[in-house]
Amino acid sequence: MTLNIAFDNSYARLPERLYVRQRATPVRAPQLIALNDDLARRLGLEPGELRSPEGIAFLSGNAVPEGAEPLAQAYAGHQFGGWVPQLGDGRALLVGEVVAPDGARLDIQLKGSGPTPFSRRGDGRAWLGPVLREYVVSEAMAALGVPTTRALAALSTGETVWRETGLPGAILVRVASSHIRVGTFQYFAARGDTEALRLLTDHVICRHYPDADGPLQLIVAVAEAQARLIARWMALGFIHGVMNTDNMAVSGETIDYGPCAFMDVYHPERVFSSIDQFGRYAYGNQPQIALWNLAQFASALLPLLGPEDQAIKDATEAINRFTPVYQSEWLRLFGAKIGLENPEPDDAALIGDLLSIMAAQEADFTRVFHGLGHDTAAGEFRDPAPFHEWRRRWRARLARQGADPMAIMRASNPAIIPRNHRIEQAIKAALEGDFAPFHRLCEATRRPYAPHEEDHDLMAAPQPDEIVRRTFC
Ligand code: AMP
Ligand code: MG
Ligand code: MG
Repeated sequence: MTLNIAFDNSYARLPERLYVRQRATPVRAPQLIALNDDLARRLGLEPGELRSPEGIAFLSGNAVPEGAEPLAQAYAGHQFGGWVPQLGDGRALLVGEVVAPDGARLDIQLKGSGPTPFSRRGDGRAWLGPVLREYVVSEAMAALGVPTTRALAALSTGETVWRETGLPGAILVRVASSHIRVGTFQYFAARGDTEALRLLTDHVICRHYPDADGPLQLIVAVAEAQARLIARWMALGFIHGVMNTDNMAVSGETIDYGPCAFMDVYHPERVFSSIDQFGRYAYGNQPQIALWNLAQFASALLPLLGPEDQAIKDATEAINRFTPVYQSEWLRLFGAKIGLENPEPDDAALIGDLLSIMAAQEADFTRVFHGLGHDTAAGEFRDPAPFHEWRRRWRARLARQGADPMAIMRASNPAIIPRNHRIEQAIKAALEGDFAPFHRLCEATRRPYAPHEEDHDLMAAPQPDEIVRRTFC
C-alpha cells in the first residue's frame, strides 16, 4: 500500500528565504495515540491507511511521503511585548499542503518533530502533556464553532524528552488553513525585505482573503477576522494564555495552544499561564492585546502602503475596524447566551451586570450560562438574591421579543468544555499508561451542546482539591 496524499505546496514555491527545507528527525518507536478519522476523511485521507505502518511513518515524521516538501517556516515576534527578531519553527515542520476534496487548502504540520535551524537552545521535541492538551482543546474549540487549527493525530515517540525530568516524547499532527502569523510579516519587515513582504501579502490574500484588494484591505480583513475570533473566545471563557504576535495567525484561526484554559470561576482578570507573571494575557485583556498585535501587523505592512504619513493614517483606520466588529460580535454572542435574538446596545449593560454578579460571587462561567437555559442558574450563586434581582430585569427584557430564549441559549451555552482539571487528570493517567480518560474527554467535548447521559459528570465544576490554578506549556 502506498499513501496517496494530494499535496500541493504553495508555501514551498515561495522564495527559500521564507523558510528552511528540513526533514523531521526520526523517532525510535512511534505509536498512534489518537487519530481523527473525521478530519482525515475531510482531507481526503483514508483513516485505515493512516493507521498502517506507512501511515504512522508519515505521521511521526519518520518517512516523507511522495509530494511532501517539509520545511520550517521563518518568523519573528513580540513575546510578552518584547521584540524577538528570530523565532521560527523550532519544534515544528510544515510537511506540506493538501487540497481537500471540498477545495480547502490545508497545512499539515508536525509539532515535536525534532530540531531545525530555528530551535535555538531547544530540543525540537514535545512531551505527551502539551500534545494531549492541544489535541483535546483544539478539537473542542472546533466543536464549539471557534475557528481553530485542528488535531489530526497524536503519537508517542518511544523516546524520552528532558524537561525538569524525563518525560515521554510525543508528536502532534495538526491541520490549519495556514500557519502564517503576524510574526511572519514582522520577520521580513524587520529585515527591510519589502520584496518578501509583497510576496507574503499576495500569498495570504490569495489564500485567505481573495476579496481583499491590496495590503490595506488585507489589514482590514485580518482585523475583522481577529475581532470575530476573540469575541468567540470571550463568549466561552477561553484564555489563550500566550497571545504573542508569533502566536496570532493571520487566517483568524486560534493557533498555538500552550498554557491555555477555559475559566471555571469567572473573573475578568483571570490568568492561568505560569509564564504570564504580570497578567498581560488575562481574560479581559485579550481584545486589547489583539488590537496591539494588529498594530504590529499594520506596522510591518507600512512599506507597502505608500508615502509614510498617509500610510500611517490608513493603517490606523484599518486596524480600528477591530473595535466595532468586536463590540457587535460580543453583543451578538453574549446576547444569545442570555437568550436574546436581536440584542440592542443597551443590553450590554444587562449582560455586564450578570458578569459582575458572577465575578463578585466566584460563580462558574460555563455553569451559570448553561443554567440560564435550564432554569438552574440560581443554584450557581452563594447568595442568589442579586441574581434573582437581575433575573427580574432579564425576564422583562425577554418578554419584549418573540423568539424562544430557551432554544437560543441551549444552542449558545455549552454544557461541556474541556475543564483544566479534567485535562490534567487525563494527562496524569496517560503518563501511567491509561489513555481512557483522554479518549473519553475527546469524545464528550465533541458534543458540547448535547451531552450524553454518560458525560454528565464532566459538566461539574472542580472540587476544591481538583482546582487547577496554573497551566504550563
Ligand atoms: P511557543 O512558545 O510555542 O509560541 O514557541 C516560541 C518559539 O520557541 C518558537 O520559535 C518555537 O519553535 C520555539 N520553541 C518552543 N519550544 C521549543 C523546543 N522544545 N525546541 C525548539 N524550539 C522550541
Ligand atoms: Mg508559538
Ligand atoms: Mg508553539
